[in-house]
Amino acid sequence: MSRVVWLGGLVGVVAIALLIVFRGDAAASDGGSCTQVDGFVHFCMNVPTSGARRETSVPLITLPSARADVRVEAAVPGSDALAVAASVDRSAERVETLFGRTFGARPRVLLFGTSDSFARGASDLFGYSSQTAAYVSQTYGGIFDRGTLTIAVNWSSGGRDRMSAAIEHELTHLMIHDLTQGRELPVWLDEGIASLMEQGAPNSASWSFDEDLTGRALAASGTIRLTQVANVGDFHNMYARVGRPLYAFCADAVRAMEERIGWSGVLATLAAVGDGASFEATYFTRAGESPASLEARLDASTVSTIVVSSVDASGNVRYTIATSLPNSELQVSITGDRSYRLTFTVRTDGLGLYRGSFGSTATAGTYTVLAARASATFSTTR
Ligand SMILES: [Zn+2]
Repeated sequence: MSRVVWLGGLVGVVAIALLIVFRGDAAASDGGSCTQVDGFVHFCMNVPTSGARRETSVPLITLPSARADVRVEAAVPGSDALAVAASVDRSAERVETLFGRTFGARPRVLLFGTSDSFARGASDLFGYSSQTAAYVSQTYGGIFDRGTLTIAVNWSSGGRDRMSAAIEHELTHLMIHDLTQGRELPVWLDEGIASLMEQGAPNSASWSFDEDLTGRALAASGTIRLTQVANVGDFHNMYARVGRPLYAFCADAVRAMEERIGWSGVLATLAAVGDGASFEATYFTRAGESPASLEARLDASTVSTIVVSSVDASGNVRYTIATSLPNSELQVSITGDRSYRLTFTVRTDGLGLYRGSFGSTATAGTYTVLAARASATFSTTR
């Protein structure tokens, strides 16, 4: 179902469909499959609603901001609230610079202090049922409401830096909405561009190496096809299955587009969609490839990689080995100073990944982990 259709009047049907999705997700999370990484559930809920701008009973304070209307719940500490207002300005400026145009109207950004007030705000502002609002508040850190062009974020879902990156993500949705004049785009493209902007935001700390590798593995293993994440309902279903790496997957898809047509080509494609052209036809003409061959390129881009975290307080590093061999035995070697050598066999998961940790049981020093013709060298010295 397309967004154009939603905006054209089937909003009620979609709201019901989303509610079913939410119920399904809520049930799934009871079994522990609701993905949460680093104590922070990811952005963003990108939904169609009725379009009527409403108010909320949550007390909000208007903060001075040059480029946006920023309102913050009184519960958010004052110094944090002022910092966020300032960062909204910087983010709005960065988004405008990268898109080469100003926002059509001042962005409206609402910052809620807790999951409860975020749920109440979402219910008041966007007309969600209390059940849907509760689900959204526990699952997503932010909302871009397409109907009212309002960004709402949940302060309790992340710290100051993450909040800034996340607001930049949501502001990107607003800019894309401007550029496409609200016309239909595949959701993976909308989310991919927003995630790309978020990844590039100054001080962005909202992405982990493991999510990036998992995003690539989702492509390489064929777990996700772009056509499976083209509409909002399917996207949220997939998010319930794979969690945050879905956003990394979408960002990779946009990078693959950029390799063919550049950032200016991506912007021109969005503008063409705004003028009424279809995304597929526009991209095919510009890139000389179909969305299907874009997908094939994305699938083929994965080579074996090992990424290692920094050392933690216990003297351990975490490492992720990405291979092109799902559910397969994999020989791993860890070598180090003084003839240290440890070799063992593991089994990759359904995406071809294996995750391990190393350090506290060995002398602090420099080590190299080797597997699947890839290697990474790290130090366990704190
Ligand atoms: Zn988003």
